[in-house]
Amino acid sequence: MRPPATLLRRVCALPFQYVSVSFPEPAYMPCSACGASVARVEDGVHECEHERWLSYQVFQLGEEILRFDAQLAAYFDSLGGRFDVWYAERERNRPA
Ligand SMILES: [Zn+2]
Repeated sequence: MRPPATLLRRVCALPFQYVSVSFPEPAYMPCSACGASVARVEDGVHECEHERWLSYQVFQLGEEILRFDAQLAAYFDSLGGRFDVWYAERERNRPA
């Protein structure tokens, strides 16, 4: 239920120091390494599952992973990149 508009206007008009808003602490927080929801009471006890940790890390790097292909292609198009490709092919085809 919404408070009446007049009450909202009166609260918004109060000087900042008179408005105190406190939020209850959540019972669960996301693990910063794997993103799993961890109960606050288990803080310090949680161990990340490797699969979940890996998926979360890949998810976190999503934008960087998407940019990598474009950056690699741009490097291969550069003078230094073309030389490195040529040199790698030369070394790979070199008789042992
Ligand atoms: Zn974790």
